[in-house]
Amino acid sequence: MAHPLPDTSKLCVHTITTKPWPIETAIERFAAHGVKGITVWRDALAGRDIAATGQRMRDAGLSAVSLCRGGFFPAEMEAGRRAAIDDNRRAIDEAAALGAPLIVLVCGAVPGQPLDVSRQQIREGIEAVLPQAAAAGVKLAVEPLHPMYADSRSAINTLAQANDICDAIDSPFVGVAVDVYHLWWDPHLQAEIRRCGEAERIFAFHICDWRTPTEDLLNDRGLMGEGCIPIRQIRGWVEEAGFDGFNEVEIFSTRLWEGDQETFLGRIVEAYLQDS
Ligand code: ZN
Repeated sequence: MAHPLPDTSKLCVHTITTKPWPIETAIERFAAHGVKGITVWRDALAGRDIAATGQRMRDAGLSAVSLCRGGFFPAEMEAGRRAAIDDNRRAIDEAAALGAPLIVLVCGAVPGQPLDVSRQQIREGIEAVLPQAAAAGVKLAVEPLHPMYADSRSAINTLAQANDICDAIDSPFVGVAVDVYHLWWDPHLQAEIRRCGEAERIFAFHICDWRTPTEDLLNDRGLMGEGCIPIRQIRGWVEEAGFDGFNEVEIFSTRLWEGDQETFLGRIVEAYLQDS
């Protein structure tokens, strides 16, 4: 029986996944490994000509999938909320210069501020920057975060909440990023993915795995296959809902960043083909 050629046509890797590499190295090595998409974290662009970096990506055959990240809209004082809106406006300019069609929003939360107040501020923040995003042709993806981050990173913790805020804003430029790490535990996940599909708002799909025990709340994500997330099943739901974009490997891992990144990237491609 002939083996099919490995299909990496929908494989995207986030620059933060190979954080020790400068973006120029990431672009070159991703392309050499057959990766076809790149999601750029804003810190990777520090000190660079953003338009030239976008051109370098395209010249290497990589699609700019998204810019990570905007958001962090809630703040107790109005000045803080205004500063967040200004920062999101800069992110829109950066995405447009890079040629990225999407910004992922880590929406924000403030310890001690009621979550519903933060959600209202998130909605107002998105609505404030939406005209500029639409004019630039840049979409915004609300990424629900696991509830362990509800204190300070996001008051949007389920796909239902993300769908609700998208329904309220009701713009073709506002949708969701489905990240298996944040959402795999949710008993309503399949139904909410279907709801996203009906509204055509799945803008991004992020993959990695959940390790047991998780030793760090932020920087101990696993490579696909190292944990307990039914990645293939969730990917199936997302695809049934009409999503045909990239599968984005987004791994924050002190353990994996400490090793050789070239070896790690080879393992990512292998794990993508086998376990996701
Ligand atoms: Zn993500």
